[in-house]
Amino acid sequence: MDRSNPATNPVDSFKAARGLYIGGTWRAATGGGTIPVLDPATEGVLAEVPDATLEDAAAAVEAADQAAAGWAATPPRRRSEILRRCFELMTARAEELAVLISLENGKALRDARGEVAYAAEFFRWNAEEAVRIRGDLMTAPAGTNRIIVDHQPIGICVLITPWNFPAAMATRKIGPALAAGCTVILKPATETPLTAYAMAALCEEAGVPAGVINVLTTRKPGPVIGAMLADPRVRKLSFTGSTGVGRTLLAEAAKTVISCSMELGGNAPVIVFDDADLDTAIEGVMLAKMRNAGQACTAANRIYVQSAIYDAFAARLTGRMAALAVGPGTAPETECGPMVSAAAVAKIGHLVEDAKARGAKLLCGGQRPDRKGFYYPPTVLSEVPAEAEMIREEIFGPVAALCRFDTDDEAIARANDTEYGLSAYIFTRDIGRGLKVARRIESGMIALNRGLVSDPAAPFGGVKQSGLGREGGTEGIYEFLETKYIAAAL
Ligand code: NAD
Repeated sequence: MDRSNPATNPVDSFKAARGLYIGGTWRAATGGGTIPVLDPATEGVLAEVPDATLEDAAAAVEAADQAAAGWAATPPRRRSEILRRCFELMTARAEELAVLISLENGKALRDARGEVAYAAEFFRWNAEEAVRIRGDLMTAPAGTNRIIVDHQPIGICVLITPWNFPAAMATRKIGPALAAGCTVILKPATETPLTAYAMAALCEEAGVPAGVINVLTTRKPGPVIGAMLADPRVRKLSFTGSTGVGRTLLAEAAKTVISCSMELGGNAPVIVFDDADLDTAIEGVMLAKMRNAGQACTAANRIYVQSAIYDAFAARLTGRMAALAVGPGTAPETECGPMVSAAAVAKIGHLVEDAKARGAKLLCGGQRPDRKGFYYPPTVLSEVPAEAEMIREEIFGPVAALCRFDTDDEAIARANDTEYGLSAYIFTRDIGRGLKVARRIESGMIALNRGLVSDPAAPFGGVKQSGLGREGGTEGIYEFLETKYIAAAL
């Protein structure tokens, strides 16, 4: 891709969508501050976006409030049609959006294309959910009255998203919030704001009224989000990001008792039993490990392989990992793009050195290439001990940590030995065994004989310190609805 050609560079084609998006207008931050957005493949500056202040945050809440009553009163069918149009426009501009994601995030274009399709699906799915919000009616057991249960839009929602899926993490929140009749203020990650602004422009084109979606970027997320959560008109915080920031935000939200949905970090175990189909297991682990170059909350973080097949599995996985094409995300042949930042590369490097120092064996990779850009090569480590930091923490990079186990009970105990509980992967030809193990794994989502769990039609979310609430499925929209019970003397 010619990065200097505006005809082929989506950074320029979405240029109009570059200000804070508040009340249906695009504008600079009060005071004029900006934030540079880097290209992880070159370390160059792609664009500048506004650095919102507390004043801008107050304006966003005001705009969301102005639009709230009108949007809540908009017929569900109309809300549904607008969301459907968002899906259609995103799909029509899919390639441009994919290149934009790849440019600011670094991920391989094939991953970015997959993300756009996944992200657009949250608009389509929620267009369908908007007209299926059900209540309940029953006679009170005493026979004295009727119990009417109704669901109403929860109110203004603050949405905070991470950089690893800049489109999908936003639509997974905007879709159900708008379907439920809520207005929103989205704060995307400062690493990847261009995708969020581009999507807001598409939603505007699709007919989302002014003030229903507001987007702001800031270098000071703590004070800016704190000010919004302190406003009594804000009723919901939906956050996707690290567990550490999630804890801070839960404490902040406690001050005004705001409803919180939290999609936090993961530390996904993979269990490959010795009766697994090896081809299926290798394909599954490659997908679970290498989607987004390992920068996914669902990424396979600890790969437990039963002793009888351990050596064969390690050899085959190493062959596949070592053969991956590393390069700029936008190059068509790239399978593993750069990491999002220099800090991410440094953290991965530290985790690999720590594991080696504790006795893990390096099977491939492990050496940062001498080139510009935030690269880390696909890496396999064998016999990683339980005390290695990468067994406790998210690696968030293209590093496969292999561990050997003998019995089912041992695998389950080691898989559950973490504060996280987002996703887990099980490979076995014995479905009964797989389902029994799945029930004992402390995790919100389990993939059985496959490397992917994410699906807009399924409830996504974690247990333990991986989160609160669910996104997608039939559950997702209820995170943005308040239950109202009316005791009616009918
Ligand atoms: P992060 O927690 O550093 O940042 C997430 C968002 O929070 C960003 O927009 C950031 O600007 C904002 N933020 C940071 N500090 C804040 C504060 N004090 N107040 C308010 N907002 C603040 O996470 P990240 O590095 O962007 O993303 C990676 C993390 O996200 C990983 O831990 C990953 O597992 C997690 N994640 C979870 C899911 C899920 O669905 N469970 C999905 C994707 C990513």
